Amino acid sequence: MRAIKIESLIKENALIKKAYDISKQAHEGQKRRTGEPYFNHVMATAEFIAGWGLDQDSIIAGLLHDIVEDTGYPLEKIKEEFGEEVVFLVDGVTKLGKVKYRGVERQVENLRKMILALSKDIRVIIIKLADRLHNMKTLSALPPQKQKRIALETMEIYSPLAYRLGMQNVSGELEDLAFPYIYPREYKWLINNVKEKYRERERYAEKVKPVVLEALQKAGIETIKIGSRAKRYASLYKKLLRYDMDTDKIYDLVALRIIVKTVADCYAALGVIHQLWPPLPNRIKDYIALPKPNGYRSIHTTVFCVDNKIIEIQIRTQEMNEEGETGIAAHWAYEQSKDSKAYQDKRSVTADKKELQWVNQLRNWQKEFSNSEEFLESLKIDFFKDRIFVITPKGEVIDLPVDATPVDFAYQIHTEVGNSCTGARVNGKIVPLEHRLKSGNLVEILTQKNKKPSESWLEFVKTSSARNHIRAALKTKETRLAKKEPKETELKIIVEDKMGLLKDITAVISRSHVNIAGINTAPSAKFLTLKIRCDTANKGKIEKIVLKLKKLKEVKKISYQLI
Ligand code: MN
Repeated sequence: MRAIKIESLIKENALIKKAYDISKQAHEGQKRRTGEPYFNHVMATAEFIAGWGLDQDSIIAGLLHDIVEDTGYPLEKIKEEFGEEVVFLVDGVTKLGKVKYRGVERQVENLRKMILALSKDIRVIIIKLADRLHNMKTLSALPPQKQKRIALETMEIYSPLAYRLGMQNVSGELEDLAFPYIYPREYKWLINNVKEKYRERERYAEKVKPVVLEALQKAGIETIKIGSRAKRYASLYKKLLRYDMDTDKIYDLVALRIIVKTVADCYAALGVIHQLWPPLPNRIKDYIALPKPNGYRSIHTTVFCVDNKIIEIQIRTQEMNEEGETGIAAHWAYEQSKDSKAYQDKRSVTADKKELQWVNQLRNWQKEFSNSEEFLESLKIDFFKDRIFVITPKGEVIDLPVDATPVDFAYQIHTEVGNSCTGARVNGKIVPLEHRLKSGNLVEILTQKNKKPSESWLEFVKTSSARNHIRAALKTKETRLAKKEPKETELKIIVEDKMGLLKDITAVISRSHVNIAGINTAPSAKFLTLKIRCDTANKGKIEKIVLKLKKLKEVKKISYQLI
């Protein structure tokens, strides 16, 4: 890894040093549940961030990520000391901290989207992943109830997010850390039944390594490294469920991983391996030619190897290997830091063409994520810019258009809740019904039995479903309670259709200063039936319109009805 050590950054980079000092002082005296100083957590978080190769602002935000929530250090001061970007990142991470998964399975995807929408910038999520990674490593110190909730959230939300960002290792590690808390019995079973198997397979991999190395050397392929990779417990368990819990059927329990210099070397190495040992049919996967949606690249093959045992072999370049570690972070291209020479050098390596790759990758990932057609051009997460995600008191996430109101929310919950809503609380505070909701808001609807929607709601609701429900409810209200006073007229016109006819008809109506509330058409065998709703119940006006329309030769029959 090209990882940058946080210690050397603190020495070399004045701003990072300042963040380190401020954070250390702010957290002075605070302890974690584990008994260690709170600042250790902050340092561990920043260390992950630096290790993944993120920019200076992200590292600073990592150092400061808990000082607003946990020490009361003002955001304003962070802005003074470190500028807008850092404040934005710290604030984003703080907001994410308030989103909690409470195990409503069908809400998982919306919750992931909400986290993206709230983050606005991938760096916010990555900082959060670093924070979560360290929290998972120290989870044993928390009370069991909390352990379970955090582990579940990690498994369902953060590990998949890391995976989709191409951070396979982080994703796998998070899942593995969460696994024992969610499936304690299964975990015990694995430890008892697989541990020895792992050792045996590790020994076997060690035996195969020199044979591979020699063959590659003979073929003139320069090998950077041959390592072995033990399958993670959580993913092994999932796989075992599909293979009758029989570990002998899991060929990649321990896989051999060959790192070579170039893509051409990858294919050459594959040839060498297949000459040595025959591959299992249908087990050759070329993720170099066809990368996984999250950008993962490697060649996998499974062969009948030494002693006729089966083993999976993965072949890739150093670059692909690093990308598997840090995913999109490896593609980061940034404004260079002015303070750190070392940092500057590192950054310039990842610029230009990689930026394109990263955009492509994110686009692929985005395709997998949502069907949004929008084009993604920057680092900012703007593919959810038209949507907001708010939470019900039960922790369900509701997906709404931007500027949606509590009434839209209420109808999204249930038609009855919409119809009978009288007020709303957002984050505990009473708000007017036309209040514009924001991502992350906790929304509670106040209802009253037998209440009916008000016509004025139509002026501010954003969703068509709310609008339709309100109209429908108003209609039944009118027909039931006040059948007497019609407000509109429906014209029923049977016409011989012709280009421009509809325009002629609507022109006649509007010249009479009558507004059209809606038009419906229904084709029949020869003629077209038009139903036009006009927002007047003035008989005189309508009669005049009817007379004028009758003069059009395409109009075959016309009648009207007050509604
Ligand atoms: Mn934290």
